[in-house]
Amino acid sequence: MDHYDLLIRNGRVLDADSGFDDIADIAISNGKIERIGPNINPASSSDSIDASGQWVMPGMIDTHVHVANAADLGRIRGLGLQMVAGAGATTVIDLGGSMDALTAGITARGSGVNVGSLGYLKPGETVPEGRLSPGKIAEIVDTALEAGSLGIKLWGGYYPFTPDETAKFISTANDIGAYVAYHVGTTATGSRLDGLREVPALLGSKGRIHLAHINAYCRGSILPVEDEIREALQILDDLRGQIVSEVHLARPNFTLGKCNDDGNVLADVVGNCLRLRNYDPTADGIRAALRDGYASTVDETRTGLVLVTGERGIELFNEGNTDVPMSFPVNNAISAFQLTAAKNSQNEFIVDAIGSDAGVLPRNVNIEQAMRLVKFGALEPTEMVLKLSLNPAKMMGLNSKGRLSEGHDADVTIIDPELGKASHGIVAGKLIMLAGRVVGSGGTILTTRRGERAIESTGIPYETIDISKAMMYSGRI
Ligand SMILES: [Zn+2]
Repeated sequence: MDHYDLLIRNGRVLDADSGFDDIADIAISNGKIERIGPNINPASSSDSIDASGQWVMPGMIDTHVHVANAADLGRIRGLGLQMVAGAGATTVIDLGGSMDALTAGITARGSGVNVGSLGYLKPGETVPEGRLSPGKIAEIVDTALEAGSLGIKLWGGYYPFTPDETAKFISTANDIGAYVAYHVGTTATGSRLDGLREVPALLGSKGRIHLAHINAYCRGSILPVEDEIREALQILDDLRGQIVSEVHLARPNFTLGKCNDDGNVLADVVGNCLRLRNYDPTADGIRAALRDGYASTVDETRTGLVLVTGERGIELFNEGNTDVPMSFPVNNAISAFQLTAAKNSQNEFIVDAIGSDAGVLPRNVNIEQAMRLVKFGALEPTEMVLKLSLNPAKMMGLNSKGRLSEGHDADVTIIDPELGKASHGIVAGKLIMLAGRVVGSGGTILTTRRGERAIESTGIPYETIDISKAMMYSGRI
């Protein structure tokens, strides 16, 4: 008789690759899926999970998180790794972090998730101040790969380069075979629709890129929101062979509350959020918005950061001397919804994936929000799985993940459809989240061949991936 390590029994198994959607058992051995079928003998397995009434999907892959930034909000290292596992992720890609912060996080508070990271480009930290020569740009991309990153993240919305430098970063990463993600914006444009309009010129006919959180560029700052959404979708569809993209579905934004000595808020975003509801753009305005429950800041618990408002929020704001993270429920639901659901004339989704832009930010709501779209009828269950797992796997070239079929990695996410949340997470056949509670530890770093030596020296397990297989380079197959 066959013998398995783990059996997931009686769940509704959803696989976007094969279109499979039926009640079945999944048998796992040695970290791989051995068999999927009805009525596998429970006595044939050492361990089993009863998934009756639950949905079973290939492990959620979140291609946009923040868990490895030296300046992360959490004072406890690695808290973001706990939070992503608690939300049902089994693999995450840190979109702009340092490998040192990542390895420290995995060591301190790893949750068993697989993590890849893109090196962030910040003048004065990872990049010299002032104009950059092509040689310097090549050196910066090389340094990121040698450190173990999968590539680079251009943070145009915060640290914009000139259009020439931006184009050179992209073409250099493309030539070297590094992954490259872009939060749009250069010195000539912003983190808005104009930044997205600039992308075709930056890419030329050959450039390849991952465009981050498309909804962030459709907030109605240039045109009415509906027109921005329509134009953004057209730009993405026209660039179909050259880009991959994601949206996030969270209502809360994140920004900084810091005020100057006169008590006026420094960040534009904060001022705008306050004025939107007729609060003064001042420290007292923030206090009033916190008191009313409109503004939130974050507090730290053992399992992660949480949004807090009211008197406790004011206390934290005062303790932090205004220099604390702030959040307002202002992200546009219409753009998130339309960008997620939109299909092109070939009936293909225009935006490939749902990515949280969360991690250590308390808005890891991919599954929660996608389940709402499923209940609403905007996504079929297997379409949700496509956006949460199969397409993200393809985006990263993770060909053994994103699929629930024999021979693939036994990374699995189980969803409680009543709660609309992940209940269990399994990585390589091992439970990392059980009934909503994170039980995993450590983790595996995803790196490229060039980063093997650096990761080896940390002692953390790693898996080497081939970025030439990433969808931006290999195409949509
Ligand atoms: Zn981000």
